[in-house]
Amino acid sequence: MNGHLHPITLAIARISDIFSKMGFDTVDGPELEDEWHNFDALNVPADHPARDMQDTFWIKDKKGLNKSGKEAGYVLRTHTSNMQIRTMEKYVADGKELPIAICCPGKVFRNEATDATHEAQFHQIEMLYVAKDASLSMMIGVIEKFFSEFFGTDLVIRLRSSYFPFVEPGNEVDMQCFKCKGDGCNICKQTGWIEIGGAGMVHPKVLEAGGINPNDYRGFAFGCGIDRMIMLKYGVEDVRLLYSGDLRVVNQF
Ligand SMILES: [Zn+2]
Repeated sequence: MNGHLHPITLAIARISDIFSKMGFDTVDGPELEDEWHNFDALNVPADHPARDMQDTFWIKDKKGLNKSGKEAGYVLRTHTSNMQIRTMEKYVADGKELPIAICCPGKVFRNEATDATHEAQFHQIEMLYVAKDASLSMMIGVIEKFFSEFFGTDLVIRLRSSYFPFVEPGNEVDMQCFKCKGDGCNICKQTGWIEIGGAGMVHPKVLEAGGINPNDYRGFAFGCGIDRMIMLKYGVEDVRLLYSGDLRVVNQF
């Protein structure tokens, strides 16, 4: 045997396949991103703590201009949400017809100490749908189908109100525990639910930043960590194992 795909590569292929069957294209884009696509266009205010040096890897000595001609910096993207903006821009530039239905799995970076559940580099999956008829109930349907397919059993989700600058309303997404289905077990800490991601209706300012008229179109978006999904599904207890290159880990997948 000459080689073996890494569990993250396998998970990304599986995720793309699940979304593809629901009519979503897989897209990817730059990991080195300008401040506008990573923050401003996503309605993240200039004084938001996420922009802090503590949370974000800023690139020294690389400056560009943002859309208003102001000098702006570059970052290692802190989320895959930059692809929401880049995809909308591309649709508008190419004159492509909506709806937009994409998923974007990819690497993201946070300037934080590593431990069993945190890595400075990890993987996210982003989903974006923009159409005249986009609704919260469609969003729930797509997310439930996604988790059900990935974890191999029919699952429901529940939404808890939360704040993310790029969605309104915004929600934390909890997934029904795939192991106990709600009875309570060690995976879900006896609650029956697992906190798994964030979602919401795309903020009108974000549609506008992507060149789409929020009076005509609505969107929903969802994001969650791929590493965490793998850890949950296969019982991996330390995220660092996924990045160690240890073949005793990799060969189990
Ligand atoms: Zn459980």
